[in-house]
Amino acid sequence: MLKSKFYRIFLASALTSIALLPVSSTVARSDANPRENQDSVLMNDVHFHLDNYIQEGIPIGEFLKLMGDKVGRVAIFGIPLQQKWDYFVDGDRSPDYYLLSDTELYYYSFVDAIVATEYLKLSPEQRKRFDPMITGFNPTDMYATDHIKRVLKIYPGVFSGIGEFTIHKEFVSPKVAGHTASLKNEALNRVFSLAGDIGLAVLIHCDIDTNRPAPGPRPAYLDDLKTLFRSHPKTTIIWAHTGLGRTISPRPEHLQYLAEILSDPAYNNVVFDISWDEVAKYVIKDPETTRAWANLLNKYPDRFLFGSDAVAPKTEAAYLKTYQDYAPLWKALDPKTSYQIRIGNYERIFDTARQKVRSWEQKQVSLDSRPALSALTLAETPSFRAAFGGSCSSPLIAGCFIETPR
Ligand SMILES: [Zn+2]
Repeated sequence: MLKSKFYRIFLASALTSIALLPVSSTVARSDANPRENQDSVLMNDVHFHLDNYIQEGIPIGEFLKLMGDKVGRVAIFGIPLQQKWDYFVDGDRSPDYYLLSDTELYYYSFVDAIVATEYLKLSPEQRKRFDPMITGFNPTDMYATDHIKRVLKIYPGVFSGIGEFTIHKEFVSPKVAGHTASLKNEALNRVFSLAGDIGLAVLIHCDIDTNRPAPGPRPAYLDDLKTLFRSHPKTTIIWAHTGLGRTISPRPEHLQYLAEILSDPAYNNVVFDISWDEVAKYVIKDPETTRAWANLLNKYPDRFLFGSDAVAPKTEAAYLKTYQDYAPLWKALDPKTSYQIRIGNYERIFDTARQKVRSWEQKQVSLDSRPALSALTLAETPSFRAAFGGSCSSPLIAGCFIETPR
């Protein structure tokens, strides 16, 4: 019993310490000085898949080596959809990508445990370079919000956002088992509301249009997306790839569509990632196109982020490919804009998310109707020990020890 009390005191102390951590000085600074001269960091990466469509990937320690000193921080996640290996269809050809089989994809919630487990293998110092994201929920399920809360409670101190999750995506959406994801589904509204309440950054993949441009003057999903975005002004939303994809090429008006959002204060909560080499190919198609993109980015330097969209790369060259592909864009940008897109905007968004989510986690302990049991249970989980305790090496914790009193 004495031990139980000790755990409770420890937990309250630890979580209070986390909540009071100062937010990085980079938060909300849009005028941060470019520091590439003093710093080898080329970029932060808002879009990285640690695992592929069959939940196989790169150990996080190996990935750290690929990041080296060129990449500062990375938002990491798996892929929420598992490609089924159906022997009746594919025989011995085990498919590891959605385009390699006609069989279905299904939601694989264990992906979040895989990512958390990898993250918790790192030292506290190494963890500062990662922002894990929850992605293993079904966005058509009204219970999706329960999954997100459950993951935060089981793995406190780990996650800063949700995504990348997919609503409409070329070839993928029709393969997903069950009800087709939709921007009009109330389940998705609940997810966005919860993210706003907690402070989780949201990374959403939703194509702007259908595989072939939808008939009519507007892309198929743009206006429904805008309605969703507008309905959640408290939620920080990152629209992946600006809605483009392998076959979703930009209409001539694409930059005007983005400007509709950027110029309207009703969407101040929305930013865009320019991840994926399939997107870079549009941006760098020719000097005139690159100049048009650069003009928009220079006008709104705080609203775009670089991301690799790499999936478990095996080499540094493979990991940095998208960054290198964008070389003409980097040259065309103002230095300040370039810095913000590569580094500064990531820090602003994820420093804020980290602080808010840690604060929410702390409140859950105090709001629990059985605080003693909750605190004890939480403190005894292996993930909590790995995240917060066991030794006093963690910079997050004041008075941090569970079983090794000093
Ligand atoms: Zn995507």
